[in-house]
Amino acid sequence: MPVESEFEPPHAEPSPRPQRVEPHPRATPTRHVAATSPPPATLFDDSGEFEPPLPLEERVTRLHALQAEVAGCRLCPQLAATRTQTVFGEGSPTARLMFIGEAPGADEDRTGRPFVGRAGILLTDMITKGMGLAREDVYIANILKSRPPDNRNPEPEEVEHCLPYLERQIAIIQPAFICLLGRIACESLLRTKLPMAKLRGKWHRLRGIPTVVTYHPAYLLRNPPAKKDTWEDLQMLMAAMGLRPPRRGGD
Ligand code: SF4
Repeated sequence: MPVESEFEPPHAEPSPRPQRVEPHPRATPTRHVAATSPPPATLFDDSGEFEPPLPLEERVTRLHALQAEVAGCRLCPQLAATRTQTVFGEGSPTARLMFIGEAPGADEDRTGRPFVGRAGILLTDMITKGMGLAREDVYIANILKSRPPDNRNPEPEEVEHCLPYLERQIAIIQPAFICLLGRIACESLLRTKLPMAKLRGKWHRLRGIPTVVTYHPAYLLRNPPAKKDTWEDLQMLMAAMGLRPPRRGGD
């Protein structure tokens, strides 16, 4: 079956000054270029203090405990009654980059994993084909941990109920960068009603973490021309992370 969601970035010019940045131990080989510091936040700056970064074992322990807590959560009565299971999030506990989407869909509700449907295939393509990372190198989570019935938008009180879990995930992982996927994630975390067009292409800060926004992969499936904009967003992110895309044909 053809993969409709394929994300093929256009050819990118290599950096003239390659500089290696130590990848995560499980990272696939990735060429790195000189990292540029993200510019100062231009719109939203929610700087906050974290406790010092935790050792890996402690992160794993805390994430497991939080996942168990989320699994038993019934703060949103309708969602708790209609979900198959909660979808906590997955990825490296030491991820440099965290993607945050909106809420589980039917496939995620069935499997208990985030971004595994058609939108998930596209996100995986963005991470692997676009950024040259492995999916397991990053961390992927949603604002809501329970599926809204019929994939309706989350209610504001559901977002407020669930956000503390996400904030605790962020505090445990302390990623160096965050990428928000879509309008709901932006509205919920940046506390803004500004349209995506005004939020893209700028740096924001969540708890002091440099944050970019781009379109949700589900939107890209409905509007393939917007993949070009998302590629620009990813390039901005990759420049700050010291990454450049994998060469065509693989190596
Ligand atoms: S969406 Fe979040 S807060 Fe609401 S029931 Fe599910 S886990 Fe609990």
